[in-house]
Amino acid sequence: MAGEPQADCLFCKIVAGQIPATVVRETETTVAFRDINPQAPTHVLVIPKVHYPDAASLAAAEPGVAADILREAGQVALDDKIVEHGYRVVFNTGSGAGQTVFHAHAHVLGGRGLQWPPG
Ligand code: 5GP
Repeated sequence: MAGEPQADCLFCKIVAGQIPATVVRETETTVAFRDINPQAPTHVLVIPKVHYPDAASLAAAEPGVAADILREAGQVALDDKIVEHGYRVVFNTGSGAGQTVFHAHAHVLGGRGLQWPPG
């Protein structure tokens, strides 16, 4: 059922504490943790505790939780002091755009100069 934990989902396992992660923030609806393969000095993933395969399906079904993700992304940037020099919040959506984990997540990237457009 949409929103329910998926047994084969890596990020559902992180939410459940079955796989360790460096958690930097947690709310009733979200978890934020450091990416295992950081692409910038700050590279944090903000995920919903509920399972949806991507950000668009999360926003369609549970817009309040999607808003929580954005608010938490901003708070991660404040906590890591990357706001002044700019940072990026990215939702890779679909394998063609680089999505590899099909549980909605925002990448929060900062702490270095960021190029535009991204590759
Ligand atoms: P995507 O490619 O789907 O947009 O992002 C998935 C992200 O999850 C990647 O940046 C990848 O490095 C990260 N990742 C994959 N496995 C793990 C893990 O076990 N722990 C953590 N902390 N990050 C992971």
